Amino acid sequence: MATNAAFPPYEMTTDAGEFEGIDIDTAKAIAEKLGLELQIDDMDFDAALLSVQQGKADIVMAGVTVTDERKAVMDFSDSYATGIQSIIVPEGSDITSPDDLAGKKIGTQRGTTGYIYCSDDFGDDAVVAYDDGLTAVQALNNGQVDAVVIDNAPAKEFVAANPGLVILDTSYAEEDYAIGLAKGSALEDAVNAALEELKADGTLQSIVDKYITA
Ligand code: GLN
Repeated sequence: MATNAAFPPYEMTTDAGEFEGIDIDTAKAIAEKLGLELQIDDMDFDAALLSVQQGKADIVMAGVTVTDERKAVMDFSDSYATGIQSIIVPEGSDITSPDDLAGKKIGTQRGTTGYIYCSDDFGDDAVVAYDDGLTAVQALNNGQVDAVVIDNAPAKEFVAANPGLVILDTSYAEEDYAIGLAKGSALEDAVNAALEELKADGTLQSIVDKYITA
């Protein structure tokens, strides 16, 4: 499995160097159901997507949003979560809605839907792509960008750790997360069957509850 362990609470690394998070526990549960050994490789998000396309990894779990463009180059399992693209700004910012991003510098993570939507809507020059979400948030703290567009779950964690930043009430977009596989992967049916069982028997919900407290 390829992942980008800089996306809490879906995937992160503990102080002891262990991977943990919703995707990590879900992948472990799927592997167990399928009688397969799970090997986790941590890399940048865009590299994780490429890794399955190039056959270097069997699956990618990294809070990956299903998009038509990605469907053209890879397959997706059934969806297992909803993602929301959120806007983080400094407290008191004049950006109060997605439209206010026009003419601003926007920080995003390279290769993500946040990057793609913002460059489509506001132009490539308006968007700065960072290696990971935390680096984008640090750039916001330093005043190098005016806002960060990123998935809501990590946004909440980054804002909790950075007083002075807030998430706008209006979200940018709503999307589905799924497991990415190589086109035509023989694993797809088995992964979907395992996912279905984990949804039906409450395992998936208990994994989510372990990492997200309402
Ligand atoms: N959900 C977003 C995407 O798929 C971001 C995922 C991530 O940064 N790990 O593009």
